[in-house]
Amino acid sequence: MALEERPVGKLDRAVIFLGPPGSGKGTQAKELARYYAVPHLSTGDMLREHVASATPLGCKAKPIMERGELVPDSLVLKMVAERIDRPDCFHGFVFDGFPRTVAQAKYLAELLKRQGFRQPFVIHMVIPTSVLMKRLTGRRSCKIGGEIYNIYERPPKLDGVCDNDGGELIQRPDDREEVVAPRLNAYEKQTAPLVQFYRRFGALHDVNANRKVEDVQREIFELVSGMRGR
Ligand code: AMP
Repeated sequence: MALEERPVGKLDRAVIFLGPPGSGKGTQAKELARYYAVPHLSTGDMLREHVASATPLGCKAKPIMERGELVPDSLVLKMVAERIDRPDCFHGFVFDGFPRTVAQAKYLAELLKRQGFRQPFVIHMVIPTSVLMKRLTGRRSCKIGGEIYNIYERPPKLDGVCDNDGGELIQRPDDREEVVAPRLNAYEKQTAPLVQFYRRFGALHDVNANRKVEDVQREIFELVSGMRGR
């Protein structure tokens, strides 16, 4: 499916990307949201903005994120509820990095029901743990547009410079080697149980994420475009 084509219908529901850090959730969620012209809601990005602006939430979240642990549900849930209440979410949205605990998933189910949405469509990014370290430590993102690169697998044309807008490419502090292990651990312990949680509802679709970005994207677009009316 060509990206330039506009979708025939609207998304009209929540799509959730579930998968370990480094599985490509951000890259894929961003493209899907752009295609359907709905918001891309990355709780990681939202929290990083709070940290950068040193809001009360940001100040609480900063040390937790630096340790590679999950920010408590009490802080994340309010932030998400406020965000999806905005009018731009009326025709659906794409979550990236949320929910990350069973408690968050249950809360989201209530929120969606209250707002008249059907149950979410969940894309499970399946990838061997062995490739994640290289993906995460090699990740760089543009300071201006947020475009994501990987110095090993998808390098920019010019070292440290974004191909799109010339912005500086930076490494997230939690992509340093010593923080990656606790993040993967948090995924296994707190987030992986969501795979069973959503599979039970028949709403979860496994996607092999250990392929070229374009191939993964094609499969996701086909899955999502086939879901309408279901
Ligand atoms: P991400 O950009 O999704 O990898 O998230 C970066 C960090 O933000 C995580 O390691 C957590 O500390 C925090 N975070 C993001 N989303 C959530 C969430 N849904 N629940 C708890 N913490 C989160």
